[in-house]
Amino acid sequence: MPAYPKQFEFDALLNDGLSIHLRPIRPDDIDALAMFHQRLDPQSIYNRFFSQKTDLSPEELRHFTSVDFEDRMAFVAIHEEEIVAVGRYDVIPERTGDEVKLAEVAFLVRDDFQGRGVGSRLLQHLAVYGRLKGVTDFEAYVLADNTKMLRLFRKSGYKVTSKLDTGVFRVEYSIAHSLEARETEWVHEKRAVSASILPLLHPSSVAVIGASRDDSSIGGRLFRNLLVTSFAGPLYPINPSAEYVHSVNAYPTVRDVPGPVDLAFITVPAAAVLGVLEDCGEKGVKAVVVISAGFAEGGPGGAAMEADLLAVCRRYGMRLVGPNCMGVLNTDSTVMLDGQFGPTFPPRGNVAMSSQSGALGLAILEQATDLHIGISSFVSLGNRADLSPDDLLLFWEDDPMSDVIVLYMESFGNPRRFGRLARRVSREKPIVVVKSGRTKAGARAAASHTGSLASLDVAADALFRQSGVIRTDTLHELFDVTALLANQPLPAGRRVALLSNAGGPAILVADALESLDLQLPVFSDELRSKLQSHLQPAASTGNPVDMVASAGADQYHKCLSLLLETDEVDTVIVIFIPTTAEGNEEIVLSIRDAVEESQSGKTVLAVFMGSAEATDEITKAKIPVYPYPESATRALAAAVRYREWRDRPEGDFVEFADVDRPDAELVLRNAVARGGDEPVWLDATEVDRLLRAYGIRGAISRIVRTEDEAVEAAAAMAGPVVLKVSSPTLVHKSDVGGVALDVSGEEAVRAAFRQVTSVVDDADGALIQEYLSGGHEVIVGMSEDSLFGPLIVFGLGGIFVELMKDVSFRINPLTDTDAQDMLSEVRSAELLTGYRGADGGDTEALQDLILRVSALVEHNPEIVEMDLNPVKVFAPGEGVAVVDARVRVRRVPGFLLPSRKDIPGRLV
Ligand code: ADP
Ligand code: MG
Repeated sequence: MPAYPKQFEFDALLNDGLSIHLRPIRPDDIDALAMFHQRLDPQSIYNRFFSQKTDLSPEELRHFTSVDFEDRMAFVAIHEEEIVAVGRYDVIPERTGDEVKLAEVAFLVRDDFQGRGVGSRLLQHLAVYGRLKGVTDFEAYVLADNTKMLRLFRKSGYKVTSKLDTGVFRVEYSIAHSLEARETEWVHEKRAVSASILPLLHPSSVAVIGASRDDSSIGGRLFRNLLVTSFAGPLYPINPSAEYVHSVNAYPTVRDVPGPVDLAFITVPAAAVLGVLEDCGEKGVKAVVVISAGFAEGGPGGAAMEADLLAVCRRYGMRLVGPNCMGVLNTDSTVMLDGQFGPTFPPRGNVAMSSQSGALGLAILEQATDLHIGISSFVSLGNRADLSPDDLLLFWEDDPMSDVIVLYMESFGNPRRFGRLARRVSREKPIVVVKSGRTKAGARAAASHTGSLASLDVAADALFRQSGVIRTDTLHELFDVTALLANQPLPAGRRVALLSNAGGPAILVADALESLDLQLPVFSDELRSKLQSHLQPAASTGNPVDMVASAGADQYHKCLSLLLETDEVDTVIVIFIPTTAEGNEEIVLSIRDAVEESQSGKTVLAVFMGSAEATDEITKAKIPVYPYPESATRALAAAVRYREWRDRPEGDFVEFADVDRPDAELVLRNAVARGGDEPVWLDATEVDRLLRAYGIRGAISRIVRTEDEAVEAAAAMAGPVVLKVSSPTLVHKSDVGGVALDVSGEEAVRAAFRQVTSVVDDADGALIQEYLSGGHEVIVGMSEDSLFGPLIVFGLGGIFVELMKDVSFRINPLTDTDAQDMLSEVRSAELLTGYRGADGGDTEALQDLILRVSALVEHNPEIVEMDLNPVKVFAPGEGVAVVDARVRVRRVPGFLLPSRKDIPGRLV
């Protein structure tokens, strides 16, 4: 029997923001389960068992608490060490066939927890787990008058399939990983998270614990900020040794506050935080921001203290920001929450921001203010004991005040969850990320300063790419892109017009555009003559339009208007370099007017080199201004790429009907057993069978032990063959002369057999393979990242991968669009599409193979490494074939052969 699946223990948020613990049931739950049943309302018991059952018998209790973690499974929901709900499924063998594995689900929720989302969390949990165990369908029986339960099943996507005579409904639900099911899970998740964040960013009342009269202290500064920006609700300073703080009545503890408190800021020393949190919990505070430092960032002792903080917050259902953070703010005029200790309260705007690092948060706020980037809300996350960027994504997704989401990240908590959420949110709102730790040194620095591990960079890159997130390398770039996205419509395409009063900078921009794959189309004669009619004869009207140095306000206005109206471009970049001391402001204002008068909806960027005049007017008119051409073009390119990503259809996770999962599992089970706790390589026969189970074509092969067998096998293959040494240890066969290609005839086969088996001492025979001539050689592989899970890699064989590192990575699982993108991302893969008349390749079959590899890896977490090198890609329509494959597997502790799909994060 599989061991207790500890990885399925989670904290989950209920609809009202309360946190409960969900975990698999255990034999020692007997007493708690008995207690749970005794406390249930008789009606609930009747609804569950359809009879007036009172206490459960000892046998029943034993039966219910012992599950096999496969066909019988149960989860309990725990709150304050008591069971408050139980959900279970039992596979019904009579109703289980080749295609279907049906299980009956049932659950019971304590009365005071009904209607709060416990049932749907349990259902999701059971569905996720059941899917891993091969269950395909759930059914449940519900009394016809149990409307609450029926509604819950309906909401979760179940369909009522029949009504039995006895007044019982049968409901049914396919738990296959349908989009529908995913959507329902998301809705639940979002509702719960948003409800829990509301008191943080829209509190009705705020307390500052550690508020001080001393303006040089953090508690003093924070309290003063809240006061000075006029927080919209009551504000309570908490200070045991002061009667007033800044003439506001102070209270010794938060429990002494007469009214309710939604949000508490905590600035007391680390050692006092835990006690203060207890007070907050008793008081009914809904969210806390712990500014105090001295926790996980300082080492193991601090980490233990931090875990205690989280436990208290969980117990009371409080969300926790920090510790070791800078605070939160919300510029909404109905809130006006300046809950941070820095000097800057930024202007109101549509950019939502979060920063992991506290100090950088201060800098970010200041710089945003300088650059006229308006902020909707800002959260400094600090050590992220509880609240993470994922939670904020869920909140900002539906926040009407925020159009652009900016994240400064040092590490991921749960990258899979982040990716899943970001992929969806990016469809509506751009997410811009500066992820530090791109270099090894950067990664080390990040690790030492947040107490969290910085992650492998190619994985992070892949994650961002897959989810439409705009990654920037520097803060500078972050602001450049954000200024564009926050103020201008997304560019409709790649075509750019350049308008300038100097030739030099225009050429710089033109070069930069080209290197970023943006286009500078040559204008039509009609447009050129219209432009010319406003310009000096010396001006040039191609693209770039060089109006020459004497261009004045009127010329800027007229030419810009023409470019904004034409349908020959999607974006206009206006460059202005002051050439005299006078009249500059007039020019800047004429640019603003032209943009404001235009109805074209085109994207406009301004590059003002060396002119600070009237910049305020321009930024007020929502035109982003850049001091250098490169900043503008890079920002534009990022916006164009994002737009293109968003316009593409959302990919699908492809299910292959012809996959034989049980057969693959058999292979893996045997290999894993052989290895014990150590990873092992599959042998050639196993690899063959595994690939075949997933519909991946390999060259026809056979293992032979003797020369005679080799001759016989070769004769059976009709056509030339390949002989490869078979050895339990050898990795690169051809490097040592262990591969003989294109061999025909008995004598040649004999010679080749002797040759390849002689190159190593431990040769145990040879692999005879059909010789597949022609085709392109590509590599498809998988490697595992401890944080991101399996990564799939694709590239062209030979020098392209090894020398030029021309490869594409994606985090598994892949959608069909991901597979397409991998092909277009690898430059050398152009060879497969018949570059310059070369023979093309069957790219469709190749994508199919990549997706099958993705499914294989996804279904079987035992696979730790895989290398199909090479895969031969034949002419279009002729398919692909794997000629060399290596697969390494290891036992996955916990359970036998689960899938990695859906191992959920803190929230299900
Ligand atoms: P290794 O990678 O261990 O050196 P491979 O099995 O990949 O050994 O063989 C080396 C090279 O020989 C391949 O990259 C491919 O070019 C060629 N090759 C191998 N098997 C075949 C085959 N069945 N048909 C045609 N060419 C093959
Ligand atoms: Mg090889």
